[in-house]
Amino acid sequence: SQFLANMSHELRTPLNAIIGYSELLLEEAEDDGMDSMIQDLKRITDSGNHLLTLINDILDLSKIEAGRLDLHRDQVRIGLLMEQLVTMFRLQAEEKGLAFDYHCPHPLPELVTTDEKRLRQILINLLSNAIKYTDQGSVSLTLRYRSQVAEFTVRDTGEGIAAENIERIFRPFERIRNPGQSRTGTGLGLTITRLLTEIMGGDISVESEPGEGSVFKVSLMLSSLHSASP
Ligand code: ADP
Repeated sequence: SQFLANMSHELRTPLNAIIGYSELLLEEAEDDGMDSMIQDLKRITDSGNHLLTLINDILDLSKIEAGRLDLHRDQVRIGLLMEQLVTMFRLQAEEKGLAFDYHCPHPLPELVTTDEKRLRQILINLLSNAIKYTDQGSVSLTLRYRSQVAEFTVRDTGEGIAAENIERIFRPFERIRNPGQSRTGTGLGLTITRLLTEIMGGDISVESEPGEGSVFKVSLMLSSLHSASP
């Protein structure tokens, strides 16, 4: 684990320099209208970012598999967290011409106890996928909070997943691609999402209809706190 943490630091430092400088060059090329370089620089930046995601995902996965992922007990303003996610993903959905809806039918407690970084990671993975695998229609997020249990539902009207592939999508590096389709991704997002949900004591399920869309549900115990501790 220490070796992996050091290695990922050693890999990330030069990689951040590569990404930083290629972004800088890309801005300059765009300002100067150097069209011939723009595509190449975009490729370098995209590949750098892909590699960075991969390194971060592999580190997370190895920590989880070694049983060394420590969960934090943060006091989380759940309403605010949802608002931030909704703002971020509504923008991404609209950029792709998709509608984005958020439903929260029950009142939320002000504060809940959970690991904020990991809860955010689970929801970001599911929402990013919903937008990535949907070319028209809508994506929605619903949070039902009852008896200290939060049920997050991410629904999309995208390409869907065939029944025979449902188990496969949770395996590392498994990606289902239709011919002629190119989508970015490491193939580790759902593996990490399922493992994180499980170590947080929760449950994840998926229902999908090819050509119609998918519904991912995550249930987690989020104990409510009445007031912040000093
Ligand atoms: P990736 O980085 O490829 O998105 P994930 O582990 O997040 O990897 O997902 C694994 C595979 O599951 C994806 O490659 C895709 O084929 C399928 N998948 C995940 N989410 C959806 C979705 N909302 N709709 C359709 N297919 C999905």
